[in-house]
Amino acid sequence: MNKTNIHKKNFIYQIIENDLINGKHVLIRTRFPPEPNGYLHIGHAKSICLNFGIANKYKGRCNLRFDDTNPVKENIDYINSIKKDIEWLGFKWCGDIRYSSDYFDILYKHAIDLIKKGLAYVDELTSEEIRKYRGTLKQHGRDSPYRKRSVKDNLLLFHKMRAGEFKEGKACLRAKIDMASSFMIMRDPVLYRIKFVKHHQLGNKWCIYPMYDFAHCISDAIEGITHSLCTLEFLNNKHLYNWILDNIKIDSRPSQYEFSRLNIEYSVLSKRKLNKLIFENYVTGWDDPRMLTISGLRRRGYTSSSIRNFCYHIGVTKQDSNIKLSTLEFYIRSDLNESAFRVMAVINPVLLVIENMADCEKILIAKNHPNKPELGIRNIPFSNKIYIDRADFSESECLEYYRLMIGKEVRLRYSYIIKAEHIEKDEKGDVKIIYCSYDPDTLNKNPVDGRRVKGVIHWVSKLHALPAEIRLYDRLFTVPNPDINKDFLSTVNKKSLVICNGFVEPSLCNAKSETPYQFEREGYFCADSCLSNKNNLVFNKIVGLRDTWSKIKKNK
Ligand code: ATP
Ligand code: MG
Repeated sequence: MNKTNIHKKNFIYQIIENDLINGKHVLIRTRFPPEPNGYLHIGHAKSICLNFGIANKYKGRCNLRFDDTNPVKENIDYINSIKKDIEWLGFKWCGDIRYSSDYFDILYKHAIDLIKKGLAYVDELTSEEIRKYRGTLKQHGRDSPYRKRSVKDNLLLFHKMRAGEFKEGKACLRAKIDMASSFMIMRDPVLYRIKFVKHHQLGNKWCIYPMYDFAHCISDAIEGITHSLCTLEFLNNKHLYNWILDNIKIDSRPSQYEFSRLNIEYSVLSKRKLNKLIFENYVTGWDDPRMLTISGLRRRGYTSSSIRNFCYHIGVTKQDSNIKLSTLEFYIRSDLNESAFRVMAVINPVLLVIENMADCEKILIAKNHPNKPELGIRNIPFSNKIYIDRADFSESECLEYYRLMIGKEVRLRYSYIIKAEHIEKDEKGDVKIIYCSYDPDTLNKNPVDGRRVKGVIHWVSKLHALPAEIRLYDRLFTVPNPDINKDFLSTVNKKSLVICNGFVEPSLCNAKSETPYQFEREGYFCADSCLSNKNNLVFNKIVGLRDTWSKIKKNK
């Protein structure tokens, strides 16, 4: 995979470049319009990189606008998390943060203008009746009995709606378009509904709220957005987007363009489903490191540059696709391979005693990065009792095994060559202690008699080891496409989190969550920002050293 082809050409850049060449626009303005009803996920990152990326590339502007037309599901916590995530991803919005609710007065005036033009009416059908009257793809809809109301009556009734004189669900404002349109969205869509709900920005000022379709296009126009980019499910909404802008008085005319949503294998990217995973305790919250939310990925140890590079690599098309998780992993792995300090940690420890070494502490030297001397060296303490990983010792003879076996030698990383002599087992029959001898003449050099030792294993000195909880993650779902499953929760991977009690070298005593490490031979890890503290070290596995998953699949 090539990491250098970032900012792949795409059809939206082409449209923008044509608009600039033809003089249709001089200054490009885009916007990122999240609804504050959940935390951002990696699909939003695609949209953020596209919208903010365009502003950067064409020296334009990108607004952040909260699409806050449904106060029932929205709150300030979501607003704050979204701001934090965008900044963390490395983008800056133009000027102040905007809210659709900033424009509620203007929207209300436009609604009145539509009524005056005979293009909107107050309907008193219930939402269930409206649905029935709308018809189907094969069958025309039917006119509401309230459709023919006079402009005067409509103005009066809309005023009453705003004044709180109707109960919720008892009236709504609908556009008068065409109940026989082949586009369902054009069959007199609802523009305003009643909700007696306090709004996080405006308190109790309003009890009627505009629908997304009505608010979005007008907000785009007010802000002078030139290219309003959204995902493909809004393709049909474009008819309504244009109808509204054609029928109101506005100074600028935005155009909507659609691109395909990002889907990633073995995950769900819909706030509704992510919410369900949290609510039903499959994960611990929006920032659970298994979630592909921005906050989850950050806590897991992903860097913002790896997410941006991933988004630029996958590009922007109109084709539906399910991107491999290994593609995302490739970008974090290449980022961390360059920057992460190498350290030693033992995830499944077993005690190893070097019998021919006295009880003493030796200070050894280790490189922080194999290819980057500028990252320096550090001291690591060594002694005659160390922990190694259980997987690095085999009781049975195996020719292909380059780790430790009775009678065989391995090198301890940055240290001496040791030979396993005998073992002690516990009452369950598991290996409890491995007794070894060491060759004192092999510190960082080959044996003088020319014998070759192939295996190198990592270790931590028992006396100096810091206990640490090490959290290993697997994909959150057992199937590549959990979205197509009606009951997507039934495909949650019950083994997506494994917690191990291991040991890490003492240099990690102050490990910070922002500093990822490579645990040699194990993978990339970072301290958990929520669970780690002075007395309790907790590490998250970010990604393995290699793409073992693709290999496992190929071997099947
Ligand atoms: P969800 O379905 O996850 O709830 P949404 O589309 O309702 O997402 P919004 O907050 O309305 O979420 O989205 C803000 C912007 O992010 C929109 O322009 C939307 O098209 C875009 N977006 C959301 N999900 C994705 C995705 N998976 N891929 C690309 N863009 C996305
Ligand atoms: Mg939405």
